[in-house]
Amino acid sequence: GPLILPVLGDQLSPGLASLRGVAKDDVVLLLAEVADETRYVPHHKQKLVLVLSAMRHFADEMRGAGWRVDYRALEDAGNSGSLTGELVAAVARHGARGVRATAAGEHRVCAMQGEWAGRLPVPVEILPDDRFIVSRAAFDGWARGRKLFRMEDFYRWQRRETGILMDGDAPVGGKWNYDAENRKKPPKGTDFPVPPRFAPDDVTREVVTLVERRFADHFGTLDAFNWPVTRAQALEALDHFIAARLPWFGDYQDAMIGGQPTMFHALVSTSINLGLLDPREVIDVAVAAYERGTAPLNAVEGFVRQILGWREYVRGIYFHAGPDYVRENALGATRDLPWIYWGGDSGMACFDAAFAQTRDLAYAHHIQRLMVLGNFALLAGVDPHQLHEWFLVVYADAYEWVEAPNVIGMSQFADGGLLGSKPYAAGGAYINRMGDHCRGCRYDVKAKAGETACPFNYLYWDFLARHEERLSKNQRLWTVYDGWRRFSAARQAEIRSDAARFLATLGG
Ligand code: FAD
Ligand code: SF4
Repeated sequence: GPLILPVLGDQLSPGLASLRGVAKDDVVLLLAEVADETRYVPHHKQKLVLVLSAMRHFADEMRGAGWRVDYRALEDAGNSGSLTGELVAAVARHGARGVRATAAGEHRVCAMQGEWAGRLPVPVEILPDDRFIVSRAAFDGWARGRKLFRMEDFYRWQRRETGILMDGDAPVGGKWNYDAENRKKPPKGTDFPVPPRFAPDDVTREVVTLVERRFADHFGTLDAFNWPVTRAQALEALDHFIAARLPWFGDYQDAMIGGQPTMFHALVSTSINLGLLDPREVIDVAVAAYERGTAPLNAVEGFVRQILGWREYVRGIYFHAGPDYVRENALGATRDLPWIYWGGDSGMACFDAAFAQTRDLAYAHHIQRLMVLGNFALLAGVDPHQLHEWFLVVYADAYEWVEAPNVIGMSQFADGGLLGSKPYAAGGAYINRMGDHCRGCRYDVKAKAGETACPFNYLYWDFLARHEERLSKNQRLWTVYDGWRRFSAARQAEIRSDAARFLATLGG
């Protein structure tokens, strides 16, 4: 019999490790839509449509390229509901002589793959997923002997290893980091390019109907669904970014403007994470734009840093830290996730804008995720595991390997500083400096106390006060704590009581 090659929903790459070096007539690709994967968290409707539609398109394309494909749709008769169940059935159905798979991206599914050898009557081979620039083994080698895992060190190591944006041993342009140039606020009247529109085809429309019917209770709306579902669309989205947004990506990468959900961001995370784009090709086209002079170095370096740096780094951390990482809670935060994460309408303009676009687009850019939605939870002392589950549900690009280090580590400091050197805590002044939400807000960003004061202001100090014993030892926070200690006792008490009053309104 043939070899069965199971292809997971985020392995939609024709060059996948398990698909290389086999004869097409000797193998059967198995793609299975299973209830377990649609429900392990109640994914945003757009994420379900994206993954199911991309799987169906990929199956069609692979068939067109001459592969034998066994496609199990969610509502096919006898669908067992689990990946293992579908694999066991496929092995029997095809009289297969073996299974060859590519390792999954997250602990839960890796554990499932680990059981296959014991569950199946045929040999099982599992190959490393080499769609990352840094292998798990290489990351572990880098991490060995290090107490601190700093992204900047990792990134410079990778620039040297790959030669990307390098001039011999030196970084192109002479500097490793252009972050200082990348914190501008777009001037009034800035023209924000509109991303290309991908009209849903028959395949996507059918999936939309399925999701509206079977997952009506899941979070999010579908009307504005616009994610690339094929490699051709993903490439079109990438080209548009390189031509129309990359030149300004650096300057405005930390900005937040009302009514501008995407600004100069790339919108490529869903496509890379699914396998429609390869991270190396995305980096290469950005570097090529620099080399032909159509994008400046601060933009291109800033973009390369996100993919060669952050994306590879968090994936390394995820596997290095192990499955218990998502339970870490170094600051002992226990508040239930506030209702505003499901309903918006908090009255905080920055929060409500980030919430509304999360609901309608399954997207928020990095600074909204980090400095609004994440920062608020950090300041309010929300249970990091509940926040982790929320982030895993609501974004179209969310997979545990990339989401968890960003939420548990970067945004909540729940890993005690494995990933970040200090918590990303900030008051309203930061949000005001980076954007224009405060002008339309019910709260006053300049006011530090009282009913109308911006909640981020007193929550920021309340957070620092709650964690004074632990965080005041952190050298990077010394001046901040000096500031807190200079407040009068009355001022400190007012901040703490404002915070308590506000937090009491949040509910679970
Ligand atoms: P751009 O801003 O244009 O960046 C370009 C690319 O760089 C992204 O597509 C992505 O592949 C990569 N990238 C940038 N920052 C990061 C990062 N911190 N970690 C990993 N890759 C990065 N990204 C996800 O893909 N899935 C998630 O579930 C996810 N959850 C996040 C949760 C929090 C709390 C935070 C702070 C960040 C999270 N990120 C996540 C990272 C980042 O916010 C998204 O990758 C980015 O917003 C996607 O939009 P874009 O393609 O327009 O990105
Ligand atoms: Fe957000 Fe505060 Fe500004 Fe309102 S005033 S938009 S709550 S930072």
